Amino acid sequence: MNAVELIQRKRDRGSLKPEEIAWLISSYTDGTMTDYQMAAMAMAVFLNGLDQNELAAWTGAMLRSGEVLDFSDIDRPKVDKHSTGGVGDKVSIPLAPMVGACGVAIPMMSGRGLGHTGGTLDKLESIPGFTTSLDPARFREVLTECGIVLAGQSETLVPADRKLYALRDATGTVESIPLISSSIMSKKLAEDLDGLVLDVKIGSGAFMKDLERARELARTMVGIGQSYNVKTVALLTRMDTPLGNEVGNANEIAESIAVLRGEGPADLVEVTNALGEEMLTVAGINPESLIETIDDGTALELFGKVVAVQGGDRRVIDDPEMILPKAPHHRELAADTSGYLSRLDAYKVGVAAMRLGAGRERKEDTIDPAVGITLAAKPGYKVAEGQPLLTLHYRHPARLDEALRVLDGAIEISEYEPEIPPLLIERID
Ligand code: URA
Repeated sequence: MNAVELIQRKRDRGSLKPEEIAWLISSYTDGTMTDYQMAAMAMAVFLNGLDQNELAAWTGAMLRSGEVLDFSDIDRPKVDKHSTGGVGDKVSIPLAPMVGACGVAIPMMSGRGLGHTGGTLDKLESIPGFTTSLDPARFREVLTECGIVLAGQSETLVPADRKLYALRDATGTVESIPLISSSIMSKKLAEDLDGLVLDVKIGSGAFMKDLERARELARTMVGIGQSYNVKTVALLTRMDTPLGNEVGNANEIAESIAVLRGEGPADLVEVTNALGEEMLTVAGINPESLIETIDDGTALELFGKVVAVQGGDRRVIDDPEMILPKAPHHRELAADTSGYLSRLDAYKVGVAAMRLGAGRERKEDTIDPAVGITLAAKPGYKVAEGQPLLTLHYRHPARLDEALRVLDGAIEISEYEPEIPPLLIERID
């Protein structure tokens, strides 16, 4: 096969055959096909898309580029959840033990934060001792012992994606629905799942800014999952303002523990429960069991167990204040007028938290787990002039100044009570 001929065909809106796609992905993974040829192919796909057959072949070829896990010896239904990412989105952390406590096995592989969005691994690593880097044998042991495991993606899974994603990042070809869907779904399908629930975020703090594109992404991913016999459901959820009241790392762990204690903020609890109920439904378990895991403490207990098994300090579930790192300084930002908080922009809050050191601008940046932002008001709240709206937890004054600059224009207060759109927008299956 000839790479140039395949690039020309996709460039001219022709179709590629499954065996051609398989060759393309495997030659790129083993280095026979060059970066510049794959960059041209990615741009051709970005501009002209992939039809359904091509997309299935592309995802399958990515999936087969590395190890595909086999959990057939685990007799529980295996279900995972994936979020397209947002600000304050710590849902996976309370969700995994809640759903796990209902008898579902969750081989959860999460990511790190990049840019304005946080990452589950960074948040978990703010628990002293907790390790998210597990080799495949240890990953399986934790899953067998606890029923859930919270770890990073193994190096052996979908190596084609690691290479292709970095190339897309450098060539302006990230925001392509077929490329995003095949990237996400190949990694999830490699986890040997029976079911998958996708949280596709829409809004200023999300990857997808508008409903139509988010819907198309969700439909495409659900279609791929179903073609591989994985029961896949997507919820479209709003991400115009941060989820919950905490944005950062250690503070998001404390808030996740509050959810497990039945004391979480309403918006975070709503999204966590909605996704959890979907996970139980795809697993064939009564979704009403979810709430019982909070009431009877089994979800909190399971979280403590997985923390300890993965090397973390289990006392965090009883006393997060004592165990989690804390920033040395705090600065409040107050309302400059009275009225209703009508906007608290997720993107700006996410960037401000990153500037404080809670996130990464570049992959190689390190995270400060202690810094972050706590929201004291959310859109729709009535506020009085001088009332604190948020607190920045910081270490370096220069970083505080940068964060404050970013927050300029993030907050709007209106005379009239704003209409707050529902968090849960649509369900796609
Ligand atoms: N996340 C992924 O894993 N892949 C993409 O292409 C985009 C977001």
